[in-house]
Amino acid sequence: FETVETQSLADQIIKENEIERYLEKGRDFINDEEIWEKLNKHVEPDPVRVREILAKSLAIETLEPDELAVLINVKDPELWEEMFATAREIKKKVYDNRIVTFAPLYCGNLCINNCLYCGFRRENKVIKRRVLTIEEVKREAEVLAGEIGHKRLIVVYGEHPATGAEYIRDTIEAIYSVKVKTRRGYGQIRRVNVNAAPMSIDELKMLKEVGIGTYQVFQETYHHETYAQIHPKGTVKHHYQWRLYCHHRALEAGVDDVGLGVLFGLYDWRFELMGLLYHARDLEKKFGIGPHTISFPRLEPAANTPFVQETKYKVSDEDFKKVICLIRLAVPYTGMILTAREPAHIRREILGLGIVTQTDASTKIGIGAYSDRYTEQELERQQFQIGDPRSLEEVIRELAEMGYITSFCTAGYRCGRTGERIMDLLVKGKERIFCKLNAVLTFKEWLDDFASEETKEVAQKVIEKEMEELKGMVPEGVYQKLLEYYQRIENGER
Ligand code: SAM
Ligand code: SF4
Repeated sequence: FETVETQSLADQIIKENEIERYLEKGRDFINDEEIWEKLNKHVEPDPVRVREILAKSLAIETLEPDELAVLINVKDPELWEEMFATAREIKKKVYDNRIVTFAPLYCGNLCINNCLYCGFRRENKVIKRRVLTIEEVKREAEVLAGEIGHKRLIVVYGEHPATGAEYIRDTIEAIYSVKVKTRRGYGQIRRVNVNAAPMSIDELKMLKEVGIGTYQVFQETYHHETYAQIHPKGTVKHHYQWRLYCHHRALEAGVDDVGLGVLFGLYDWRFELMGLLYHARDLEKKFGIGPHTISFPRLEPAANTPFVQETKYKVSDEDFKKVICLIRLAVPYTGMILTAREPAHIRREILGLGIVTQTDASTKIGIGAYSDRYTEQELERQQFQIGDPRSLEEVIRELAEMGYITSFCTAGYRCGRTGERIMDLLVKGKERIFCKLNAVLTFKEWLDDFASEETKEVAQKVIEKEMEELKGMVPEGVYQKLLEYYQRIENGER
């Protein structure tokens, strides 16, 4: 696949977007030396200071970089216990007891970049390359919405003109157009989030027009030197700042929600957490809106990709939990996404911490894998190997057993609860009440349409508990409305 042509396509994208001007180091808000200075300055944190910082997080205020550096340096296990407890309390305060589920949908794996850690990199000859036609995308959506019951997707693409902004626009439109009859109602994808390469403002405006959900781009690593090494020269992705400012461009283009992320395992996780915080703060400063979500994928094995085994920055399970806790404390209002990259036992443990808000299930990342009904993972078709292929139903049942409610609500976006408005509601702890009501109703819909009797039984207990709690939280009139809608769903309305 590595050809003269792929290089000239990369050159063309670099030229058209004048990406070269985004290359210089030191003109952005990530200062590598400053980050290390702060991390090294607070090596022996005073517990009193730590508790002051925790109180700030609990008041849903974004931390200062120095404050995060203090928390990162905590060693005392008892203080860590307090930090985990605070993180859990924050999640409850902002998002209540609910988890949102989604599925990734890979539309194409052509790529002009050469990221050393990725199965799709252009010089990787073992990968079977494929781009779904629009009809094939619809077929994938039919399985996801009609058989599994997903309402949210993240669509994923390599970087290539064949899957550029226009193709992305067409796939989003195609997915929204799919409506499938189910047992008692109908299935439809209601929110399409996008994970794709950095784009120009005009391209992002085009995606905004067709109703893009969150525009998610991971910086991979915030460390300039490491970034330059693992994204080789000559590729589009080599340009750190073109990527770093893509969320700024998205917000300028009018996209409501943006998602940040780091690929953990490329550089020191302490540094990366600081990078994420600087990034969130810069968005807050310039747009009054921080990241809608933060993702924290860890490096996974990929076909013919020795880099993954060779990296010296692998994040252990213990540190991974700390990373998750620290993100919640540093950017308390943000949605946090745990993916099926992680094996089931780790996901169970992490979801049980009560800190994250979203997770994927029934995950297949081979191109065309949902409608082709592949049951085994096939590394030659995948970007990397996933750790937890369990079905949505299994994940939901397990969550219910742990006492969490799965929400299929996407109303917030339709009611204008996005961007700046949702920030305000999240920070004041009001969004959780909308979410709690809608979680009950949409969970009920999903159970009626897709669940087995066994799952329904476990889930019903959670619904009852939630309704009981709601009784004490909302005015009587609202509670009556909830009962009325519940009954209408019971009667088959959606
Ligand atoms: N190609 C676009 C880009 O790079 O921005 C879209 C995203 S890529 C298909 C999705 C994400 O997968 C990347 O941003 C990266 O963080 C992650 N990824 C790549 N290789 C991985 C690996 N070996 N293990 C886990 N995640 C990986
Ligand atoms: Fe291409 Fe994205 Fe993989 Fe890099 S991470 S090789 S840009 S698909």
